Amino acid sequence: MSEQREHLLNWLRDAHAMEQQAEQMLKSQASRIEHYPKVKARIEQHLEETRGQQRLLEGCLERLGSSPSAVKDTMGMMTALGQGIGGMFASDEIVKGAMASYVFENMEIASYVTLIAAAEQAGDAETRRVCEQILAQEEAMAQWVLDNLPEVTQAFLVRDATDGMEAKK
Ligand code: MG
Ligand code: FE
Repeated sequence: MSEQREHLLNWLRDAHAMEQQAEQMLKSQASRIEHYPKVKARIEQHLEETRGQQRLLEGCLERLGSSPSAVKDTMGMMTALGQGIGGMFASDEIVKGAMASYVFENMEIASYVTLIAAAEQAGDAETRRVCEQILAQEEAMAQWVLDNLPEVTQAFLVRDATDGMEAKK
């Protein structure tokens, strides 16, 4: 097998593990949010997209005669679990979570830009098409999080300043 194909396969497996991590993070965020319904709804939408992305990546790996890496996937899920537990102790969980989401979505964007270039180099038009499709979803999510960060921050501050109102999640 060519070096190019080997790198492409590795990056596809990394992306699959990243999407496993994304699924765990989004799932725990969505289940914990109580007072920010717009954020919860957008996270649930992206959770569904993320599960679809996993299937799309599995399709690419299968077509190339490979499969996801169980080791990488497990490590991704354990990382997400650790971050989820860490976030629960923050009194400004909703704001920290939004900031972390923005960072994570941008890491995903970088991963798919890399994959698109690698697929193009390897002459794999189908993988390129799939990664472009996923990239558009990550860009939309990153933009939504950024656009809504001021509103979430101010809603948190108002709730936090109000007696008897929970603000953190
Ligand atoms: Mg994703
Ligand atoms: Fe994403």
